[in-house]
Amino acid sequence: MEQKKFNNKKVLNMSFGIEIDKDACTGCGTCYEVCPSECFGEPEGGKVNVIEENRDDCVGCRACETQCPEEAITITEE
Ligand code: SF4
Ligand code: SF4
Repeated sequence: MEQKKFNNKKVLNMSFGIEIDKDACTGCGTCYEVCPSECFGEPEGGKVNVIEENRDDCVGCRACETQCPEEAITITEE
């Protein structure tokens, strides 16, 4: 599947929550590849984690949510 990066311009002053279903995650690395804000670390041990210091950089593009093959990511508006 083609993986697209998104422009990482922050829109307004919105902030977003990133939730990973660790049971569903297979560590495929798609979210790590597509996130324009480097919110995810390189998967280790078959799981991916949010990089805490980059969490607030999420621009809500939902590339991770829509491209995760396991539907393991949920992005929420906060
Ligand atoms: S895209 Fe989904 S399954 Fe793949 S590493 Fe990210 S959260 Fe895990
Ligand atoms: S929605 Fe996902 S891909 Fe987009 S910036 Fe936030 S964490 Fe990264």
